[in-house]
Amino acid sequence: MGSGGIYHCRVCGFRSGEIWFGCGFLGNSDNPTIRRMILDGEYGDTPRKILETEPDAHFYADSIAYRCRCGNFSSKGAVHIFSSEGKPLYRPSMNCGRCGKRMRAIRDPPGNQECPECGMPLDFELTVMWD
Ligand SMILES: [Zn+2]
Ligand SMILES: [Zn+2]
Repeated sequence: MGSGGIYHCRVCGFRSGEIWFGCGFLGNSDNPTIRRMILDGEYGDTPRKILETEPDAHFYADSIAYRCRCGNFSSKGAVHIFSSEGKPLYRPSMNCGRCGKRMRAIRDPPGNQECPECGMPLDFELTVMWD
């Protein structure tokens, strides 16, 4: 189950870009498509190397929403990898496309976010849902 949408502010008119979150969109667990995408380096070099050295590792892919201190909202598809004993081997992170700083993952998105421009609570306008 996942969703996509836009944060917007009724007070000052701020609108974020479209962000996506949830795992339904990309599938999870031992999906052979995800395994191939990891081994093709679609999620970066680090996940690829981990899965090459630990073929028994568990993983799932989802879409994560991020927020930056500079007011930028973004999201990306990412994988999480765990050893066969359940130890986390790889956790995705995201750098801001606008200011380059490390972004913060939004817990329980869309959650309650304040407007980066005026500090008022943002509305979340759902544009897409999938299951
Ligand atoms: Zn605002
Ligand atoms: Zn930023």
